[in-house]
Amino acid sequence: MTTLPPTARVVIVGGGIVGVSALYHLAKAGWTDCVLLEKNELTAGSTWHAAGNCPNFAGNYGVMNMQRYGLALYRDLASIVDYPINYHVTGAVRLAHTQQRMMEFERVQGLAAHMGLTMDMCTPEELQAHFPFMETHDLEGGLWDPLDGDIDPSQVTQALAKGARSNGGTIARFTSATGVSRENGEWIVHTDKGDIRCEYVVNAAGYYAARVGEWFLPHGGRKVPLTVMSHQYFLTEAIPEIAAWTKEHGRKLPLLRDVDSSYYLRQDTHSLNLGPYERNCRAAWVGADDQLPDDFSFQLFPDDLDRLEWYIEDAMARVPLLGSQGVQRNINGPIPYAPDGLPMIGPMPGVPNAFEAHSFTFGIAQGGGAGKVLSEWIMHGYTEWDMWSCDPRRYTGHADAQYSLGKALETYGHEYAMHFPHHEWPAGRNKKLSPNHARLVTDGGQMGAYNGWERANWFAKPGDDTSEEATLTWHRNGPWESRLREEVEAVRDGVGVIDLCGFSRFGLSGEGAAEWLRGLIAGALPKVGRMNLVYLADARGRVLTEMSCIRHGEDDFTLMTAAVAQWHDFEILSRKLPMGLTLTDRTADVTAMLVTGPKARELLAGISDADLSLDWLSHQQATVAGKPAMLARVSFAGELGWEVHAAPEDTAEVYAAIRGAGATPFGMYALNSMRIEKGYLTWKGDLSTDYSLFESGLERFVKLGKPQDFPGKAALTASAKTAPVRRLLTLVVEPGQQDAPYMAAIFSNGERVGEVLSAAYGYRVDAALAIAMLDASVPAGGTVEVEVYGQRLTATVQDTASLWDADNARIRA
Ligand SMILES: Cc1cc2nc3c(=O)[nH]c(=O)nc-3n(C[C@H](O)[C@H](O)[C@H](O)COP(=O)(O)OP(=O)(O)OC[C@H]3O[C@@H](n4cnc5c(N)ncnc54)[C@H](O)[C@@H]3O)c2cc1C
Repeated sequence: MTTLPPTARVVIVGGGIVGVSALYHLAKAGWTDCVLLEKNELTAGSTWHAAGNCPNFAGNYGVMNMQRYGLALYRDLASIVDYPINYHVTGAVRLAHTQQRMMEFERVQGLAAHMGLTMDMCTPEELQAHFPFMETHDLEGGLWDPLDGDIDPSQVTQALAKGARSNGGTIARFTSATGVSRENGEWIVHTDKGDIRCEYVVNAAGYYAARVGEWFLPHGGRKVPLTVMSHQYFLTEAIPEIAAWTKEHGRKLPLLRDVDSSYYLRQDTHSLNLGPYERNCRAAWVGADDQLPDDFSFQLFPDDLDRLEWYIEDAMARVPLLGSQGVQRNINGPIPYAPDGLPMIGPMPGVPNAFEAHSFTFGIAQGGGAGKVLSEWIMHGYTEWDMWSCDPRRYTGHADAQYSLGKALETYGHEYAMHFPHHEWPAGRNKKLSPNHARLVTDGGQMGAYNGWERANWFAKPGDDTSEEATLTWHRNGPWESRLREEVEAVRDGVGVIDLCGFSRFGLSGEGAAEWLRGLIAGALPKVGRMNLVYLADARGRVLTEMSCIRHGEDDFTLMTAAVAQWHDFEILSRKLPMGLTLTDRTADVTAMLVTGPKARELLAGISDADLSLDWLSHQQATVAGKPAMLARVSFAGELGWEVHAAPEDTAEVYAAIRGAGATPFGMYALNSMRIEKGYLTWKGDLSTDYSLFESGLERFVKLGKPQDFPGKAALTASAKTAPVRRLLTLVVEPGQQDAPYMAAIFSNGERVGEVLSAAYGYRVDAALAIAMLDASVPAGGTVEVEVYGQRLTATVQDTASLWDADNARIRA
């Protein structure tokens, strides 16, 4: 039995595949002074009973990157660490019942190609050639992933453990962590075998992560938004035909995923393994009389095959051999779900030197990559690829128990669902409402959730189709299209108003605040009475975040950021806050509306005492409709405009006055279209840690000559000496029917030369647009091809990011 050392640099709680992979990656990178605690035997949680399917397929760029890396690691791991692993790289077919599904596959195929992975679109005949026992008469086609397969989850975990130990990591099995305390800036992890003092602690406790998370509440932590679901698969008795096929071909059948019916089917020795994600799913341990037990190691839930009946019948119709033998064994185990079904990997919200790696629904496929990502977070404070989609800080205060449960049930029941660009999932809604909410809905607002805040995406008129079904499309146009055009035209020609509830807002003040900020941001601060954008870089000079900086006094600021950035950005500011400065999260104290369009001045003049002659990027305190408000002269729509910031109790009256004075309500879709025309960027849409500030076209927000040594300065200084490799530009794309999705590949003369970051139709310039990251070798004015759901659309590279009002004449009017 391992003796527990009194100190370690990192202590990881949890010895499933994820915790062990994190230890492996830390040890391999030379961080040998790390200890993993497992209360039972390794794999005792969800890992031991997992089916072990390992797809590359993912709709999400960060997740696919993680899977790609992990699967490549698994292919070599047995020989790297000299530990045998049963890993069958069988390939997999994914079936499409509809054209919509084929388009999803085309999109993922493009994403995969971006990372050097080959996936092939298939006809029904080609699918059948891969998997001969299947009925294909009702299929549109499918996708072939040659690198999909299945791995023995326990063996791969043990192999990682062997690699971790031989690189110097310590694994303490049968050692329960029981709590944490903090002393002199260090963590003390309490265990049933004594205490360990450490610098960093990691919650990798699988479906126990919410319980482990409770220990961190007194240290600034939050309740972990995790729901445990019961997930099943069953194995049939051996099927002679499959045994014969395997003998003849010398390999297993590929995996089959019927994603429209929502199950996977794969060969296990000579039997079949069926695993559905059923709509009528069940959460476990959610009621007062159904609590998470203190120990569930190597245990399962009772069989519940009735729940799977529809799926079994459907799968038997698809692969009739499935019905030829009885059920040999059923596995019904706990699987943790975050609200969106993506894992939580990264800094623990609100807690210093604490990290998380839990809530894995595909932890076997993702464990290898997750260990890499987590170790990078701990060792460097950043990750190779932007991993915002898995960052624990993406969920803020709205993710309470009720929200988490509702979303987990929805996500599990739609595990294989397509995520369409205009579709809003119905669970977990109305968590944070603008004071204008009722008015917005009455005005026809079709609402969407932004960090839990409800904002109008577009405004329907009587007779418009506002059904959820109408949004289940990859197409750019739907019932919203004509309204969206009208909204943009109203802003272009007159004046519009949009409720922008939920802007993250921080107050920063105290003597020295300005100087401290100068050492944090890459560029310059605004003068008192002015505002501007400021950017923070990571140590590599990549874009960490963007904030609107409003300067009220010499050392008095309001910093505003995207709604979803609330915890991320607050943490960046608070982590380094010196004594004597005050930082306050004022997100809930003020709400924002944007009044914009050439007639905005005229409108506000009638209801406000503000000095509307103050120029662009000014701000002032004034009244609107007799209520105190701050007016900031900026417009993300790229027109003359003012943001009106008012107290929540005054907001409804202010909004009513603005509407009463003739402003047309417009929604987020119109705003997105207009900001892309203007070349304005969004955080985590266009701006991410995948690209440097220079690559993102933010040179004018970087002041390398200033004396302060801001994060990323050295890297940016070095890169300024060489010609840029790539840069952000706007494309005018042949219209097609869809907007190019995130990370759509761009080609020139058959070579990949970049990727799309965001796209929309620009109604003011009457063209389909995309903001793209392009190799510097592609000349402005040149022609490229953009891959949009499998189609290559011609696009011309613009010589400016801004296609609307490039000289800011309208904004400054
Ligand atoms: C039926 C089923 C089939 C699945 N099939 C697949 C699949 O095909 N492919 C796939 O990718 N994923 C699959 N999964 C999901 C996969 O099992 C999980 O995502 C993965 O195992 C999670 O690993 P983990 O390390 O995060 O958690 P776990 O394996 O649960 O490990 C957490 C560990 O923490 C330990 N622990 C908890 N509290 C403490 C404490 N206080 N002190 C010390 N130790 C503690 C636990 O004992 C446990 O060993 C399946 C899940 C189920 C239920």
